[in-house]
Amino acid sequence: MKKKNKKNKLFSFLKTYNFETLVLFLFLLGIFLSTQDFDLSDFLRVTIVSTFKGTTSFLVKSFSNIASIFQGIRLSNSLGAIILFSSIVLIFRRIRFRMINNSDIKQKACKVCNGELGRKKSKVYLKRIGLLMFLKLKTYDCKNCKKEYVIFKSK
Ligand SMILES: [Zn+2]
Repeated sequence: MKKKNKKNKLFSFLKTYNFETLVLFLFLLGIFLSTQDFDLSDFLRVTIVSTFKGTTSFLVKSFSNIASIFQGIRLSNSLGAIILFSSIVLIFRRIRFRMINNSDIKQKACKVCNGELGRKKSKVYLKRIGLLMFLKLKTYDCKNCKKEYVIFKSK
């Protein structure tokens, strides 16, 4: 029974963070491809050439001609950079999405005591975070229990 619970927990964790897992995988793949000396274009060329070796020499020639265009470019490195860049963009967008979603107050009332909320000056470090993430922010506090709420919104 306990084992099953553990399994379910892991499953729900993966379900909630499947996007993050994918991004992390892409991120690591990006790092691997851009740091390793593994030349993908060379690998592709060899594969393509050997695949078509049995066919006419004309086909082989044209394929190795096309492949030789890519020979000078470290395809795997540029691919790594592209993947790395896109995963950073995806992570950034996901963090923004979570910040907006997690800070949202549905009824504009305190979640603890349902008290009325009043505007407050935002803290400087929070403003900096907002600026960094391209988000607007407003700080509220509960007039009743003084609980603070920081709400992030897209600009
Ligand atoms: Zn309250």
